Amino acid sequence: MLEQLHQLKERALSELQGLSSVDALEKWRVAYLGRKGALTNILRSVGQLPVQERPTVGQEANLVKLALKQAYNEKAEAFKREETLRLLEQEHIDVTLPGRPVQPGYLHVSTQTLREIYAIFAQMGFQVLETPEVETDVNNFQLLNIPPYHPARDMWSTFYTTHEGVLLRTHTSPGQIRAMRMYCPETIRLLLPGKCYRYEAVTARSESMFYQVEGLAVGKHVTMGDLKGVLISFARQMFGADRRVRFRCSYFPFTEPSVEVDMDCIICGGEGCRVCKHTGWVEILGAGMVHPQVLRNGGYDPTVYTGFAFGLGPERIAMLKYRIDDIRYFFGNDLRFLHQFA
Ligand SMILES: [Zn+2]
Repeated sequence: MLEQLHQLKERALSELQGLSSVDALEKWRVAYLGRKGALTNILRSVGQLPVQERPTVGQEANLVKLALKQAYNEKAEAFKREETLRLLEQEHIDVTLPGRPVQPGYLHVSTQTLREIYAIFAQMGFQVLETPEVETDVNNFQLLNIPPYHPARDMWSTFYTTHEGVLLRTHTSPGQIRAMRMYCPETIRLLLPGKCYRYEAVTARSESMFYQVEGLAVGKHVTMGDLKGVLISFARQMFGADRRVRFRCSYFPFTEPSVEVDMDCIICGGEGCRVCKHTGWVEILGAGMVHPQVLRNGGYDPTVYTGFAFGLGPERIAMLKYRIDDIRYFFGNDLRFLHQFA
């Protein structure tokens, strides 16, 4: 039995020397030290030996087991070291190589247009004030002369939240109420930009989310002449010094009188084309003198103060300026579109 153990040890150790892979090492471990391995079999059979032989054989078998385990651990350790060295060799980092170029980002065309609009109005003394996108029905409609069930609400169907009377604003006009209540009785010259929402089918001309820039001027001698001057100046700075602008009568519940502002078509120069629907004019924004009741709702006495307001869509401005024929491009995240404005 002792001889058998000795041979087993010699064989196992010499086999171990020749192993060249982790897989082979594992097979070796199973063959000699595993639950059904050669050494385990011998250890199991110790019990069948004559009583006086058992301690010697048992002790020797355990010594062999210990020796094999130690040899196994050393070999496993050696394999691990080799693997680490190989990886270091294979995957070493050459810090002298040039880095990958960082692709510079750039502003979205809507943001670029917004900033252009801010810059033009800033010269005329307008500051930017951002107001909340989630609004109350009171601010978005009621204080702007649109009571519940007013037919004008059909023009602004929106997304309602689960809170009674809280909605996503349909226009930036509720910002007028907030601004007036914030600044009253000072004079106001503000741009109120931001996102607006409409519960509407998405088409080439309308999105369910879009930017709007509201303008508001309130003071003691603000006239329709100021409104016209400011908006004509904007159109010419944005689209070119020789642009012609016209004002058409219109209706908004929160301005009186109200106007739509048209500019001669920049595509055809007024000759008539598909973009201007062969009229020679394109609408660029809506405006009007702030309704006396809206002034009152903002805290201003309409017998002392007057004001004008306007609302324009930067996407619409960008569409005209860059001749983009579909508003859905703006938020479609198509890089082929966005890269053109890099
Ligand atoms: Zn045209």
